[in-house]
Amino acid sequence: MDKNALEFLEKYLNNAAPTGYEAEGQKMWMDYLRPYVDEFITDNYGTAVGVINPDAKYKVVIEGHADEISWYVNYITDNGLIYVIRNGGSDHQIATSRRVNIHTKKGIVKGVFGWPAIHTRDKSNEQAPKLENICIDVGCSTKEEVEKMGVHVGCVITYPDEFFILNENKFVCRALDNRMGGFMIAEVAKMLKENNVKLDFGLYITNSVQEEVGLRGAEMITQRIKPDVAIVTDVCHDTTTPMIEKKKEGHTQIGDGPVISYAPAIQNNLRELIIEAAEDKKIPFQRLAASRVTGTDTDAFAYSNGGVPSALISLPLRYMHTTVEMVHRDDVENVIKLIYESLLKIKDNHNFSYFQ
Ligand SMILES: [Zn+2]
Repeated sequence: MDKNALEFLEKYLNNAAPTGYEAEGQKMWMDYLRPYVDEFITDNYGTAVGVINPDAKYKVVIEGHADEISWYVNYITDNGLIYVIRNGGSDHQIATSRRVNIHTKKGIVKGVFGWPAIHTRDKSNEQAPKLENICIDVGCSTKEEVEKMGVHVGCVITYPDEFFILNENKFVCRALDNRMGGFMIAEVAKMLKENNVKLDFGLYITNSVQEEVGLRGAEMITQRIKPDVAIVTDVCHDTTTPMIEKKKEGHTQIGDGPVISYAPAIQNNLRELIIEAAEDKKIPFQRLAASRVTGTDTDAFAYSNGGVPSALISLPLRYMHTTVEMVHRDDVENVIKLIYESLLKIKDNHNFSYFQ
């Protein structure tokens, strides 16, 4: 990961891209990716795809998602407080006492999620923060005052937290889920270019919108691309921090390498190709099993177009959907390497069928 890559990552992370409003981040991402691809496809909802070998018949997707969780303004009280609803899996438990950015046509309006003082709370019946009791204060005393600032029902709300590095190799930021995915697939394209690799199939480097509300961007773009193979990357949980039950969530941790998933949506022969790539190149990896669905865009690709061989390579992450999500730099580099090496093993017209 060179200096230029790290600079891009920081800029890309610090830009807010809430679900439904990913376009600015996508432009940034396309600018970074442009030297490494032949052309771009974009769709009406903002998904962006860099294409290498657009004329090739056999199509391979590598994919991450561009959006981040946020809140919507839902209701403004007469005395100027703002109640919210989720846009994606935003966490009510971490909201209180946080600063927020409300996105309006007039620009960012700053606010805070307030919370009653410890002195005034009923100690025998402590309330946990929940959607019904958290609200944003923008420093106004009437609804009219709030509206005059440009805030209305439907405005989206993000956290201002920015990228930083802890102890040399832990990246911390909001929205590492899944801004890291877009970053890592772009780095794969860069590696292909720098190593002068001529792929004999079409490569579709796909940054999908609207994953956080149910894999919607991937559902749309897979119909457009009609890929033959899809390798998806997203984040998964580090399960070694407190209050996580390993018997339920499995054991995966940051620093121990990319996480390869087992699930019905994962095509076994494609997964084995990825594991072979890891073993051949001595890339460390971990395993994770998912019951029924992976909950990632993998499901959207797998169950489209009559069944697309799909696999999932995840980046382990601590504190998902908080403002201090954390990943290990070595894992980031190893996910990039693993996607790259897997692509080198895929041949034109590669047949993944179980019946050959
Ligand atoms: Zn997420």
